[in-house]
Amino acid sequence: AKAAGGARWSLYDADRNRRELARYALSAAIPAALERGEFYLDYQPLTSLCDGTVLGVEALVRWRHPVLGELRPDSFIGLAEETGLIVPLGGWVLAEACREAATWSGPGRVTPFVSVNLAVRQVHRPGLVHEVRAVLDRTGLPPERLQLEVTESAMMSAVEEPVRALRVLADLGVRIAIDDFGTGYCNLAYLRDLPVTELKVAGEFVAGLRAPADDPASRTDERILASLVSLAHALDLTVTAEGVETAGQADRLRAIGCDAAQGWHFGRPAPPPASWST
Ligand code: C2E
Ligand code: CA
Ligand code: CA
Repeated sequence: AKAAGGARWSLYDADRNRRELARYALSAAIPAALERGEFYLDYQPLTSLCDGTVLGVEALVRWRHPVLGELRPDSFIGLAEETGLIVPLGGWVLAEACREAATWSGPGRVTPFVSVNLAVRQVHRPGLVHEVRAVLDRTGLPPERLQLEVTESAMMSAVEEPVRALRVLADLGVRIAIDDFGTGYCNLAYLRDLPVTELKVAGEFVAGLRAPADDPASRTDERILASLVSLAHALDLTVTAEGVETAGQADRLRAIGCDAAQGWHFGRPAPPPASWST
């Protein structure tokens, strides 16, 4: 029995090793895939809960892999962050998002901003300010139409550099959002030092609003959300709720005073509407 157990374990290890190897191989293939143009961006609307206008869109990277097919970011972003390949990949995402957004226009309404995810490594890189400036110059996108999404964990290290860099960018007019707010460390000191304009509240709290309003757990999530909204408003920040899948969730978020929402109820990630192109 012992031998069999041992064999099972090594089989399991072999399996896990194979998966790890596959992950590494995938990540090592990123530079060549960038050259071959295998990445593209989908955009998901951030919709005002007051009047339904699309305030902005979040750029979400996808990989059209020649053998494996369409790959979601979850299967390659994590490892790209570990290996540092997120720097060239994230640089491409930033440039492509700004290039596309610069071609959008909407006569008679506000043209949506584009919101780009920045990995921790990108935020901590000394060249960030220069890179963003260069992309804005090259594409002609007004800084107010770019939002950068950074996670709480990017702000947690003792290093001053990221805060300084984001402050320079905010002074240019670039919007700064905290992504997945409420899931990181409970240290809000960075909100005092950072020129943040928006908090994006993680979908896990919003998921609780799917249950009936008299469900105790659902009420707790609603109270957490309501306090995040009042914290944000006290600091002059707007709040976007993520992962909004139903009209019922949207109604409860609106009642709490949440400013905007993102999720399948308002639109799945997709290519930008043709009517936006100039
Ligand atoms: P995220 O920044 O939290 O992005 C939102 C994710 O939630 C997206 O998954 C989106 O498709 C999904 N989503 C949107 N609405 C709903 C909904 O109503 N219900 C549910 N269940 N999910 C919804 P996606 O596109 O697979 O991206 C996953 C993560 O990959 C992102 O999470 C982000 O952390 C990362 N990511 C994507 N693109 C980039 C990028 O260009 N750079 C970096 N650094 N990370 C990226
Ligand atoms: Ca995001
Ligand atoms: Ca998020």
